[in-house]
Amino acid sequence: HADIAMYRAKKLGRNNTQFYEPTMNEEARERLRIESALRSALERQEFVLHYQPQVDVQSGRVVGMEALLRWQHPELGMVAPHRFIGLAEETGLIVPIGAWVLRTACAQARLWLDAGHGPLRIAVNLSPRQFSEPQLVASIAAVLRETGLPPACLDIELTEGLFMHDVTQAVGLLHKLKLLGVALSIDDFGTGYSSFSYLRHFPIDVLKIDRSFISDIHEGDEAAIVVSIIALAHNLKLRVIAEGVETATQLDYLRRHGCDEIQGYYFSPALPVADFEVLLSQGRSLHPALA
Ligand code: C2E
Ligand code: MG
Ligand code: MG
Ligand code: MG
Repeated sequence: HADIAMYRAKKLGRNNTQFYEPTMNEEARERLRIESALRSALERQEFVLHYQPQVDVQSGRVVGMEALLRWQHPELGMVAPHRFIGLAEETGLIVPIGAWVLRTACAQARLWLDAGHGPLRIAVNLSPRQFSEPQLVASIAAVLRETGLPPACLDIELTEGLFMHDVTQAVGLLHKLKLLGVALSIDDFGTGYSSFSYLRHFPIDVLKIDRSFISDIHEGDEAAIVVSIIALAHNLKLRVIAEGVETATQLDYLRRHGCDEIQGYYFSPALPVADFEVLLSQGRSLHPALA
């Protein structure tokens, strides 16, 4: 809400300032309220991670999961990330929040490996703001060391926006991350404005096809884009994951075109820890007949 309020405030522009002033004050107050709530949310342990399975299309097995942040607000209930990630970015609060996400996700993945559910990969979203933190590589190394999670089990999701600014710096940083032994994914692939040329220079392991292409897969252009991204990934020796797979038709199309993994409501939404454990224990498969 705060994001939308700010967006509207900006859009209204100077001419409307007088007329909208009372509203803008309200909006500014609302924003401040959320910001200060966000500030104390970590201390009050109001954040929680849900985990969405990533499934191998061929074997039908769960091979990993993406950690997705939720805010369990005392009054607002479960708050989805789109309502607060933007503000967390702007205020820099995403840095301590992101550090908590990384540590919690890695510790959880380690528990699941110890329980015999492996091999599993844990994907964690990193915001652009976290990438400009000088401590990033050291703090990821520390989390891996302290949780004992094998680095190869950690998959860091980046967005294309990262490559739009200082390319040289980004390349250097990604190589340092690769030296830790983690996997690197491009999230929401196809929605950014960057050119494909960066793919040659960046040590990337995975392309995640954005959900918007998958939901419109029945339309010719989107189908062509999906097939092209899969081919591009495979030609560059990258794995490819389709996000937001909701129907058997979409899955079938992706399987026929050689997509490696899927993630989406068709198999499962993001789940709280206990529910994810049930899914792992049951050994749930994408192809029940083969289970
Ligand atoms: P994302 O990283 O692209 O994550 C995928 C989003 O798509 C998740 O939304 C997931 O619940 C949703 N999704 C998965 N399958 C389906 C499907 O079949 N249909 C539809 N309609 N949606 C599906 P969520 O959890 O609301 O997260 C939204 C975004 O918030 C994420 O997009 C990511 O950009 C950001 N985010 C979430 N957690 C974190 C975090 O810990 N740190 C940072 N920096 N960003 C995060
Ligand atoms: Mg993601
Ligand atoms: Mg995505
Ligand atoms: Mg997204």
